[in-house]
Amino acid sequence: MTEKYVYSFNEGNKDMRSLLGGKGANLAEMTTMGISVPYGFTVTTDACTRFYKEDEKLWEDLNNEVSEHIKDLEKENGKTFGSTEDPLLVSVRSGAPISMPGMMDTILNLGLNDDAVLGLAKKTENERFAYDSYRRFIQMFSDVAMGLDKNNFEKLLTAKKNDRGVEQDTELNADDLKELVEEYKEKYKELKGEDFPQEPREQLDLAISAVFKSWGNDRAILYRKLNDIDDAMGTAVNIQSMVFGNMGDTSGTGVAFSRNPATGENKLFGEYLINAQGEDVVAGVRTPQEIHTLNEAMPEVYEEFATTAKKLEDHYHDMQDMEFTIQEGKLFLLQTRNGKRTAHAAVKAAVDMVEEGLIDKKEAVLRVNPKDLDGLLHPTFTNEAMKENQAVAQGLAASPGAAVGKIAFTAKDAAKRASDGEQVILIREETSPEDLEGMVKANGILTARGGMTSHAAVVARGMGKCCVSGASEVHVDEDEGTMRIGDQVYTKDDTISLDGSTGDVYIGSLETQSPQLEGNFGTFMGWVDEFRDMKIRTNADTPRDVEQALDFGAEGIGLCRTEHMFFKEDRIFQVRKMILANDLETRKSALDKILPMQEDDFYQIYTLMGDKPVTVRLLDPPLHEFLPRGEAEIKDLALDLNIEPARVRERIAELEEVNPMLGFRGLRLGVRYPEISRMQARAIMQAAIHCHEDGIEVVPEIMIPLSSDVKELKYVIDEVNDEIQKVFEEKGKEIKYLVGTMIEIPRAAITADEIAEITDFFSFGTNDLTQMTFGLSRDDAGKFLPLYLEKDLFAKDPFQVLDQKGVGFLVETAVEKGRSANKDLHLGICGEHGGEPSTVKYLYNVGLDYASCSPFRVPIAKLAAAQAAIEKENK
Ligand code: PEP
Ligand code: MG
Repeated sequence: MTEKYVYSFNEGNKDMRSLLGGKGANLAEMTTMGISVPYGFTVTTDACTRFYKEDEKLWEDLNNEVSEHIKDLEKENGKTFGSTEDPLLVSVRSGAPISMPGMMDTILNLGLNDDAVLGLAKKTENERFAYDSYRRFIQMFSDVAMGLDKNNFEKLLTAKKNDRGVEQDTELNADDLKELVEEYKEKYKELKGEDFPQEPREQLDLAISAVFKSWGNDRAILYRKLNDIDDAMGTAVNIQSMVFGNMGDTSGTGVAFSRNPATGENKLFGEYLINAQGEDVVAGVRTPQEIHTLNEAMPEVYEEFATTAKKLEDHYHDMQDMEFTIQEGKLFLLQTRNGKRTAHAAVKAAVDMVEEGLIDKKEAVLRVNPKDLDGLLHPTFTNEAMKENQAVAQGLAASPGAAVGKIAFTAKDAAKRASDGEQVILIREETSPEDLEGMVKANGILTARGGMTSHAAVVARGMGKCCVSGASEVHVDEDEGTMRIGDQVYTKDDTISLDGSTGDVYIGSLETQSPQLEGNFGTFMGWVDEFRDMKIRTNADTPRDVEQALDFGAEGIGLCRTEHMFFKEDRIFQVRKMILANDLETRKSALDKILPMQEDDFYQIYTLMGDKPVTVRLLDPPLHEFLPRGEAEIKDLALDLNIEPARVRERIAELEEVNPMLGFRGLRLGVRYPEISRMQARAIMQAAIHCHEDGIEVVPEIMIPLSSDVKELKYVIDEVNDEIQKVFEEKGKEIKYLVGTMIEIPRAAITADEIAEITDFFSFGTNDLTQMTFGLSRDDAGKFLPLYLEKDLFAKDPFQVLDQKGVGFLVETAVEKGRSANKDLHLGICGEHGGEPSTVKYLYNVGLDYASCSPFRVPIAKLAAAQAAIEKENK
């Protein structure tokens, strides 16, 4: 028996999304629920997968199945394909298992030809409507199925409007449209060298193939890459009998959410257009009306829609994003799916739904994508900046956040300039899927046209990127490279600021501030904390970072990079002196100056952190970052060291390394200059004892970086312990402390059992561990890594997302060996990967006790850890 490739809507359900795609599965579900859905069928994703392997063989199998289902459709509707009395028309839409907004294409009114258009005119007694549908079909089919640029047809439409002296499409009459259809067909023939296909079945087969092909277009591939969607999944194709929103003033089409996707407010949110078809709303061609006004225009339809939206939300236990059409006063649902939302809305809706009893707390925690929290943690403009600056234009607050940058008028220019390091804002009349790359790279997006559900708004929200849409005072001339607001003209050299939370547009660069987290966010994070058992610490080096991280809920410091404490000018001088000193005495004198500064820093950090753990890492300066370069700096140092500048230069030359990342850093510095480790150990313990005297029971965690062998590590630990004993003796007080090491060299991971015997904790330094496992320089990889990603040689940047196969193997080995030798060994990660959700989940399952990440990523890591715990329990 051949495989079943086609399912009627009454054969499927919502759990069949991998086979029927999200749209198909939900259309089937709604059909079963008794919701008004135009009848149809779905060609499966398996058919798409096979299409890519052997398209002819697929069609041999598919042909009959499609024919059977068309017969059913004809029966169901009492219409026939190509009829001159009452023709069956269908829509053809893609629908992948994971929603891919704007990535794929739709064809409406399929089945129209020179005969059927007469039938449609007769049946509807509306010749104008019939020819309008036909001309739309020719354009859509030519563009989507045949790859002919739609501008060819748009130009003919514009010419016709000009010729008739009208502005709107709706002002063209039946005869105008009849002429236009002929002109469209001629254009088609001119471009394709053959007549426009008249046979409905041929049209349908071409359309199905076109949907399959669109799975492989560049935009779809890019979208999948950005959203980690498997290329092998394929798309389904939905064929559905047409309903018409363009049949006059009692017809219309719209898109609406069951709650507000920007704020989460529990109130219908959306837009519709009277007398319009399908994509008109999403494309932002005309400016739509707000959904609540439908209550006045068509109260019964509004009531039915509101009830349906509630029913769907209750059924799916989630916010729904719906497309609907009203045909002569009758409502039809064309799609429902879980609505994409801003992080703000996701958190509010999750909290509200728990309060409404729709979902439980665990479900609420699983609802919010950790990556999306980024959008909540984004900055806003300061109050002063808002007071001092006057908005020059206002659009819709499409996606929150504050963005500043120079103007870019094309996606290409935005992408290029952003890659060159410039901060840019992409400004478009309206965006289309082709603009995706520019939208990804720009700091923010501004469009002159389009509503809250326009492409720009939907995509920006999905990306958590600041976006203002539909700012009608903004006039964009892409060819000239100008943006005009009133009589002011701006070019690519001008900087603008966007407020995606209010829709305000400012000229110039406004000051931004960190986000304030309260209310729903606090409630939500409270639940996150309830279900999470992995601790989340932060990487922070200064009291300022520490305060920020505490605001975000950090539970400790997993990495305090002491070398970062010396970036300030007055301090770096002493560090340079210490590094460049040729003899012990000079070095010690520099260290004596550094000691009180370090002690004070540690004291401040410990005080801020209270009883929360703080891991201080001993100095790990890649020396090249700290050596003086300028003549003036060299002269100053020479003067202070009381030597000739030439001697300083000589010393710099001696310290110069061919391969500094594999050079004289980390504990190697402590092996060569034990007095440096001793000074730091002393500063840590003196600060901690000071805290104990203040009543704060600090347990210092001293971390030694870059160990590769137990003996070198022991050497440094002995020095540290010895110095600490001296401090204890001097102070007449002993306190508990821990000594651990970073596992960031493969050999350390492999010999972790030996290392664990002399340490209290490991912290995985996955930045270096990745660098050294791949043999890929952290500093230079940017020169060729993008190429690896482009060519799909690497699925992800291994410096962002932990490579579980290779680097993960070393981590797992170290965990196993380390714990076998020391069952109390405490384990954490402090590389950049500690704030990346998929890595946090992975490391939770590997058995790490904590992850440490930059302050802004603390809530993200917390949420990922809570989800990992719930997912494990649900297994
Ligand atoms: C690491 O290597 O992962 C690490 C945290 O240390 P650094 O980035 O300072 O080398
Ligand atoms: Mg490191």
